[in-house]
Amino acid sequence: MQLPSSLIQSLNGLPGFDETAFVAVHRSGSQVTSVRINPRKISAPSFQTGMDPVPWSGLGYYLAHRPSFTFDPLFHAGCYYVQEASSMFLEQALKQTADLAKPLKVLDLCAAPGGKTTHLQSLISKDSLLVSNEVIRSRAAVLKDNVIKWGASNIAITNNDPGDFVMLPGFFDVMVVDAPCSGSGLFRRDEAAISEWSEHGVALCSQRQQRILADVLPALKEDGVLVYSTCSYSKEEDEDILKWLDEEMGLEGIELNTEPGWNVIAVKEGSNFGYRFWPHRVKGEGLFMGVFRKKDTTGRLGKYRVKQKPLSAKEAGLLTNWIGTAERQFVSFGGRIYAWPESLFEALDLLAEKMKVIYSGVLVGELVRDKLIPDHALALSGLVSGTVARTSLSEDTAIHYLQRKDFVLETAQKGWQLAVFDGHPMGWMNVLPNRINNYYPRELRILKEQRPAE
Ligand code: SAM
Repeated sequence: MQLPSSLIQSLNGLPGFDETAFVAVHRSGSQVTSVRINPRKISAPSFQTGMDPVPWSGLGYYLAHRPSFTFDPLFHAGCYYVQEASSMFLEQALKQTADLAKPLKVLDLCAAPGGKTTHLQSLISKDSLLVSNEVIRSRAAVLKDNVIKWGASNIAITNNDPGDFVMLPGFFDVMVVDAPCSGSGLFRRDEAAISEWSEHGVALCSQRQQRILADVLPALKEDGVLVYSTCSYSKEEDEDILKWLDEEMGLEGIELNTEPGWNVIAVKEGSNFGYRFWPHRVKGEGLFMGVFRKKDTTGRLGKYRVKQKPLSAKEAGLLTNWIGTAERQFVSFGGRIYAWPESLFEALDLLAEKMKVIYSGVLVGELVRDKLIPDHALALSGLVSGTVARTSLSEDTAIHYLQRKDFVLETAQKGWQLAVFDGHPMGWMNVLPNRINNYYPRELRILKEQRPAE
């Protein structure tokens, strides 16, 4: 692995940088694999024993070796997310600066593919709203798949430019800007990215990061928390941005507590605090994070009158066999029925009015001649009523199901039911007298035929 010499030169002198160790860890070929569990679905990962926890997260674990996630049904059931360990430091930023027991409005501005979004969802309360935004449409679709798999009902996915959030002045209590960057922090994982790196690229990224932040900050409320992060080592994208946020945007840096054993490098510059993760010091990739509080008042959103009408009692009544209706409202967009948490109805309605929302709450399905055709999202959501039939599949049959193949099953129950592995729903199937219709979404199916040798 040949690291750009101009990058190395620019890093010399930065706190915690050690050229020899940095180059060696990139050349070593060693890789770190970590996962973060979905606490709504599992309490500990089950696929390997004796896993070390990620020190700065109560949900992350290192794996001794990288298994085939594709061939693990629990991966498809949304029981965990494969995420680089350093990124999980977001948990400290949130826990140390926000009251997570309160109903918060949180924005994840640069959210695809969904690592930080799924993490944020696990940290906030059920009455909190997470808006996960991704500006690139194709990447927003991947984000949506991952959010559906995670199975939460308090997320809205938007596909907006950062500047569009001026429509929501002072709306958010917490904002995470995991900015697009020059990506040097991921070189160990993705050698191909090295050829795309340039000093000019770093300068362009730095300008773009400022633009993104300036555009979105009006949507953060007074005393709201901003978490800024990159996976770049370059000062122009890291400390220089913190300085700019302080001097030009009037934000106040917040210091986080870190434990010495974590080997995270805390950088204090004036009244700003940044946290550097170097791969030769921590078990993880390159990451930089800084946290701020907004001190000035922004405009407030005027009074809002709810536009969306919930589904009629008659139509909602048709859903009661499928989904518990307590604390939930149902709304229909173009015939597709979504379940929204009752406490978030007004906020979700407001978002639907003002932003380009591509998904919100849980897509329950469509009513066709007074019968529900359930959506895949409902199966993964944990909202399905206990009276709906479910059949547990063996591991081999579960893989066939996820490959969207035909399979046979010994089951006396007919009709719609959940295909379950190890207690976790993976999707729907419809058991007919002479065959089983596999409703696993075609676009999500496992394409590989064989499990790779481990
Ligand atoms: N937070 C994500 C996660 O944890 O999985 C990773 C986000 S990635 C570092 C940065 C994201 O910013 C990308 O998804 C990219 O499409 C998006 N992006 C690119 N240009 C942008 C812009 N001008 N404004 C906002 N987001 C942008």
